[in-house]
Amino acid sequence: MPSPCIGACRAVGGICLGCGRTLTEIANWGSRDPVRQQVIMDEISGASSNGHCARCGAPLTCTVSAGGTIEQCWCSQTRPLPFDPAASGCLCRRCHGDDQVASA
Ligand SMILES: [Zn+2]
Repeated sequence: MPSPCIGACRAVGGICLGCGRTLTEIANWGSRDPVRQQVIMDEISGASSNGHCARCGAPLTCTVSAGGTIEQCWCSQTRPLPFDPAASGCLCRRCHGDDQVASA
C-alpha cells in the first residue's frame, strides 16, 4: 500500500495534521504488512470506528473501547494533552491534532 501521506506534513505533539497518522505509525509504515496498514487507514477514515469524537462527533477508533489497553491506542503515541472538561470522552485524530497545536 502506498503511503497515505498527502504532502501536507505538519507534525505536532506526535501526530501529523496532514494524514492523521501518529509519528510512530509513520515511522513504522514501511515495515507494516498491508493488512495492518489497512487497519490504520480504516481507523483514520472512520471506516472501522467504534465511537464518536466527544467534540465534533466524527467517527473514531478507541482501542480501549475495543478491549485493548491504553498503551495500544494511537492516542498514547502522542503527547498527553491537558484534560478538557468540555470533552466527555475521546477526541478524533483531527480534534486531537487541533489541541496539540493549541497547547504547543
Ligand atoms: Zn473531533
